[in-house]
Amino acid sequence: PKYVYDFTEGNKDMKDLLGGKGANLAEMTNLGLPVPPGFTITTEACRVYLASGAEPPELRDEVTEHLETLEKKMGKRLGQPDNPLLVSVRSGAKFSMPGMMDTVLNIGLNDQSVHGLAAQSGGDERFAWDSYRRLIQMFGKTVLGVPGERFEEALEEAKRVKGTESDLGLDAQDFRKLVDTYKHIVREHTGREFPQDPREQMDLAIRAVFDSWNGERARLYRRQERIPHDLGTAVNVVAMVFGNMGMDSGTGVAFTRDPSSGRQGVYGDYLQNAQGEDVVAGIRNTVPLQELEKIDKKSYDELLRIMEVLENHYRDLCDIEFTIERGKLWMLQTRVGKRTAAAAFCIATQLVDQGLIDMDEALKRVNGVQLAQLMFPRFDENAVAAGKAKRIARGIAASPGAAVGKAVFDQDTAVKWSQSGEKVILIRRETNPDDLNGMIAAEGILTSRGGKTSHAAVVARGMGKTCVCGAEELDVDVKLRRMTAPGGIVVEEGDVISIDGTTGQVYLGEVPVVPSPVVEYFEGRLDPQDAGADELVRAVDRIMKHADAKRRLRVRANADTPEDSARARRFGAEGIGLCRTEHMFLGERRKHVERLILADTEAEREEALAALLPLQRQDFIGIFEAMDGLPVTIRLLDPPLHEFLPDLTELSVRVAVAEARGEKNEDDLRLLQAVRRLHEQNPMLGLRGVRLGLVVPGLFIMQVRAIAEAAAERRKAGGDPRAEIMIPLVGAVQELEIIREESERVLAEVARETGIELDALIGTMIELPRAALTAGQIAECAQFFSFGTNDLTQTTWGFSRDDVEAAFFSTYLEKGIFGVSPFEALDRDGVGRLIRIAAEEGRAARPDLKLGVCGEHGGDPESVHFFHEVGLDYVSCSPFRVPVARLEAGRAAV
Ligand code: ADP
Ligand code: MG
Ligand code: MG
Repeated sequence: PKYVYDFTEGNKDMKDLLGGKGANLAEMTNLGLPVPPGFTITTEACRVYLASGAEPPELRDEVTEHLETLEKKMGKRLGQPDNPLLVSVRSGAKFSMPGMMDTVLNIGLNDQSVHGLAAQSGGDERFAWDSYRRLIQMFGKTVLGVPGERFEEALEEAKRVKGTESDLGLDAQDFRKLVDTYKHIVREHTGREFPQDPREQMDLAIRAVFDSWNGERARLYRRQERIPHDLGTAVNVVAMVFGNMGMDSGTGVAFTRDPSSGRQGVYGDYLQNAQGEDVVAGIRNTVPLQELEKIDKKSYDELLRIMEVLENHYRDLCDIEFTIERGKLWMLQTRVGKRTAAAAFCIATQLVDQGLIDMDEALKRVNGVQLAQLMFPRFDENAVAAGKAKRIARGIAASPGAAVGKAVFDQDTAVKWSQSGEKVILIRRETNPDDLNGMIAAEGILTSRGGKTSHAAVVARGMGKTCVCGAEELDVDVKLRRMTAPGGIVVEEGDVISIDGTTGQVYLGEVPVVPSPVVEYFEGRLDPQDAGADELVRAVDRIMKHADAKRRLRVRANADTPEDSARARRFGAEGIGLCRTEHMFLGERRKHVERLILADTEAEREEALAALLPLQRQDFIGIFEAMDGLPVTIRLLDPPLHEFLPDLTELSVRVAVAEARGEKNEDDLRLLQAVRRLHEQNPMLGLRGVRLGLVVPGLFIMQVRAIAEAAAERRKAGGDPRAEIMIPLVGAVQELEIIREESERVLAEVARETGIELDALIGTMIELPRAALTAGQIAECAQFFSFGTNDLTQTTWGFSRDDVEAAFFSTYLEKGIFGVSPFEALDRDGVGRLIRIAAEEGRAARPDLKLGVCGEHGGDPESVHFFHEVGLDYVSCSPFRVPVARLEAGRAAV
């Protein structure tokens, strides 16, 4: 294979082979932009090196060949003593990994060529020695492994001796001395001299870039960002241009538009007489890019022209790195820039208006994760700016949301305080399964260690709780119940803090929370057509409309009350995919359920059911009304009955206490017997779902009657109720047949009684592997399937969700057994395969079978794409997730 490509040979679509930086340098070269010449060593060469421990044998000759071409172009040889060519050796993987890998500038300088460089620059000795000391510093650190502080300390010392604050105060003589000091540091640390041979410098630097792929920080970053470990990095060798040749030179970074709002304009920073990382390293104060117009108008104008060329070419926001050498502008890097969620929506529609992209492309440029971020309530930035709260640290944004509460450092305090009505934030170094109750009690969780797959992060996301993790600037002392932030700020137990799980920011004090304008828009309280409407709201509106027009999947909501149903409808739900009935048996109604369970005689049971019937009917009337004209899928009772009875321990204590007093409560005794009888080792796999309908006479019949009577009543009132009756946890068609027959009998009875014909559908959930595998049989008896992916994931993996997430999922994620929890994103290979089988065989048996999904995966961006692929009719998710599912269903269809 070919291991080295000249910049003239590549293009932007070759990122796999040339890495992002190399591919884009080639693209800019071919666009005719001023890029210093150079070449790229492929990721394939890196992979060979990493696998075998040695560079591929052909590499050396290929590099020599390309170096010679470069030397010819530049008219000088690498490190040539009287007129040296200098190069940079830069890492660049397919995905940008900020600050993870390293770059060495000024390669080719040594004790001879430093004089040549000075002569080349018209006798600028200061520049030449500054460049040389930079080489030793960067090379020493990244190639030879000398701790960077050693060099930084020496530089500080030189400034101190000279009595200057800035490196601009140092002259040629000072840098020359610094070179000696640096060389000494290298000798002391490595037992060898700083290498003088330019080619050896280059080869060692290339190898160091290869090695940096497996550095600890790089591995950690890849794990967190789920970037595969076997991609390898490319290496770019680029002719040096110099921003440190005096005040008419400099270096800068820029965005082609504002990455936080998308607004067009000039965004960037510039630093005169500086090289490479100086701009971001903060060694001196940079100036806003606008000021370059005054400093060097010609270069400024050219830069703006190039930014326009890049935007038009990439049809997107780009970020760039550039250097000016004595009035001549050079482009050193570009890529499609990162942006905030809000900017993503705004930029996409701006580019449509500019005619650069169409609406399909705009839809692809945003995603459901960004939309979900925009829907969380957020901290009021004005309040932060007004000094109401102080930003004290930043960690990893692990689970979105804005949480405010009193700092607590242990689970007991978290539970105790929250029980007495306080809002608390649980702060730990890292969490483990013992912290679970504290995490449940807290408004939010903050840790100083661990990344996106740490225990805190995984469990918080599972609970939908705000979490910032890995805030390493914070020193958490659990014993003393306090944490220390930079600048000596101490947060004691009970102090109020605010954490932002969307940005990772941590504040001392209470930051007021404001509702998201995007939610206000979905709720219908903000009109995007209003003259004063926010650009973001208008952008979201346009893109959502396009998604709705394009999508094939319908989107329904999981909602159990009229209020939730109405809200879901405002959010665009096209029906209810899951109306749970269990909450309708709680509260006041518990006593009827108890009587039902305890009934000894037919009459007692009938009486309890008769009491429940009108209550249930009323529940359904409200929901049908809110969802008038749209389908409402009602699931008959699913959870084990003992969930409606008192806790076994509490009840036993009550009975024992009564007995000790010599009292005897007959009802309690009977209840205790029932609780004992219904106690299960594995309730999840016990008496629940359709099994209840088969075992408890009259229960499902009562529910079906309530649905039918409610529908009839709505019809009488002029409404358009569309009931769908759903039987949970079916594993065999025989179970369904019995319930279906009974249900149809009840529907017919109610039709006779009311004189109203009802066309309710009867279907089943597919949430057991056996149901999926016998879907062909089940479809004979079911008018629709709804995949209950939460239970289907539990039963397919054999995971009890309530237990495994806290106990060991973080370990599984860290060991790479899966990249995301299968409860967050659908497991395509296992659970997904069952869904595919059931969909195909179900449709084969009954072509008009309706297919939907009602697990939480229905609102997960990635999973929605899968459901689209499999050809389901709809997804159903929590009301808040409906817009996310609509957007992703649209994206899946374009
Ligand atoms: P990173 O990926 O960390 O941004 P880069 O490879 O882009 O690292 O290089 C770091 C800095 O060095 C950048 O500011 C870049 O502009 C500068 N730089 C890299 N190569 C050259 C070169 N040939 N001439 C001048 N400056 C360079
Ligand atoms: Mg860079
Ligand atoms: Mg279920």
